[in-house]
Amino acid sequence: EGGGAMAAADPGRPRAAGLALLGPAPGAPSCPHGPALLFVKTSQGKEEGRRFYACSACRDRKDCNFFQWEDEKVSETRLAAREEYNRNHQPSFTHRQNVDRYKNFVLLPSSKRRFCQECQQLLLPAEWEKHSDHQFLCDITTAQLKSPSQLLYPLENKKTNAQYLFADRSCQFLINLLIDLGFRRVLSVGTPRLHEMIQSKSSQEEFSVRSLLLDIDFRYSQFYTEDEFCHYNMFNHHFFGGEAARETCRKFLYEENGERVIMVTDPPFGGLVEALASSFKKLMAMWRETEKEGHDNKEMPMFWIFPYFFESRILDFFPSFSMMDYQVDYENHALYKHGKTGRRQSPVRIFTNLTPSMIVLPEEEGYRFCTVCQRYVSSGNQHCEICNSCTSKDGRRWKHCVVCKKCVKPSWFHCNNCNCCTLQKHSCDKTDVGCFVCGKAGHKRSACPSLSCS
Ligand code: SAH
Ligand code: ZN
Ligand code: ZN
Ligand code: ZN
Ligand code: ZN
Repeated sequence: EGGGAMAAADPGRPRAAGLALLGPAPGAPSCPHGPALLFVKTSQGKEEGRRFYACSACRDRKDCNFFQWEDEKVSETRLAAREEYNRNHQPSFTHRQNVDRYKNFVLLPSSKRRFCQECQQLLLPAEWEKHSDHQFLCDITTAQLKSPSQLLYPLENKKTNAQYLFADRSCQFLINLLIDLGFRRVLSVGTPRLHEMIQSKSSQEEFSVRSLLLDIDFRYSQFYTEDEFCHYNMFNHHFFGGEAARETCRKFLYEENGERVIMVTDPPFGGLVEALASSFKKLMAMWRETEKEGHDNKEMPMFWIFPYFFESRILDFFPSFSMMDYQVDYENHALYKHGKTGRRQSPVRIFTNLTPSMIVLPEEEGYRFCTVCQRYVSSGNQHCEICNSCTSKDGRRWKHCVVCKKCVKPSWFHCNNCNCCTLQKHSCDKTDVGCFVCGKAGHKRSACPSLSCS
């Protein structure tokens, strides 16, 4: 595994060999994706590791190979070259230009509306020639322009930027939930499908919810104005559009006329939870600062959509959050979507700082309300009398282990060697390397029992 996201810095975790994130650092050098993050390379047992900067957004060196030791002297020539490189690696059109292009595009008769699939770009007739040997789509309809997430290819880079789009019913569920909770504005961070569904619903009558999309995928700037989309990196809280874009976001968070705001985010699952948390805290601070007296000690309401096995990591950074049992389904994710033969379990959940009892989950999908826990839970999630809570994380019925004093997955058993519950098939010899996902020793991330469905 390359890049920085591997073993993240967690104060409560034994020091393991690997990489740890120290976070955004003042004065950090920049790559085309904004300020780099500071990491430290640790070797087993050693106290101090060597620190270096690496790209915040790309975990694969192939996508962005920015690297600099923290104590490295960088010559003027190299700095100049780097700046030049960063400039050259910005998108070929600015957001403003894309907005103007869009205005011209919608004026075209449908026979002249083309979308280049190779360049992922709306084409104006004067540009056809340049793309003549590219594949393109014709007769682009207004409906297609209103659902860019269906027109664009989902980015597929496994490590950096895989885009997993919500299945319709999960997206509908989220929107209905937001409305029922009384929110009229949604800060959509890395949720283009949710954004576009809100937008198209808003054009219908009797539905007044607004959304601002923050995403690193600049292709969306072809379809949205500067008030609807900001090119944003959620791993370092970088607004590519500078102060103007930041101001757009700030204005959006200011709750005029009692229009309440919620932030919804569905980041890539690749890790870097602490980098995400640090950015989300900055967005929360932005919200708090818009109101002088209003929300002194309150937090901006938030839905953070993420796999359940990150629960403890998320709670480390946001103790006010709780995990909902609702299983978020995706359209293009082989593992997480509904199969033809009934339902495959999705590990993706909603983490929120709203009161759990307010998050009403659909009974027709098998969720029920537990009066003791005061929240909706999966049908298979049984209330454990000893733990005094509904303990299942994956929707199946879990069993209580009296030695571990907690509930565990149904397929686990208590191993006296390891002194904990685990899969029947495991080796008791431990290594010192903590697992990135659950933090426990004895296995690597790829073999993490939390990730397996058995
Ligand atoms: N389920 C969501 C999409 C989630 S996929 C939906 O259907 O709307 C993750 C999203 O995060 C993608 O849109 C991707 O472009 C965006 N993303 C990935 N890395 C990012 C980064 N560093 N900063 C901001 N957005 C990022
Ligand atoms: Zn092209
Ligand atoms: Zn319960
Ligand atoms: Zn229990
Ligand atoms: Zn046990």
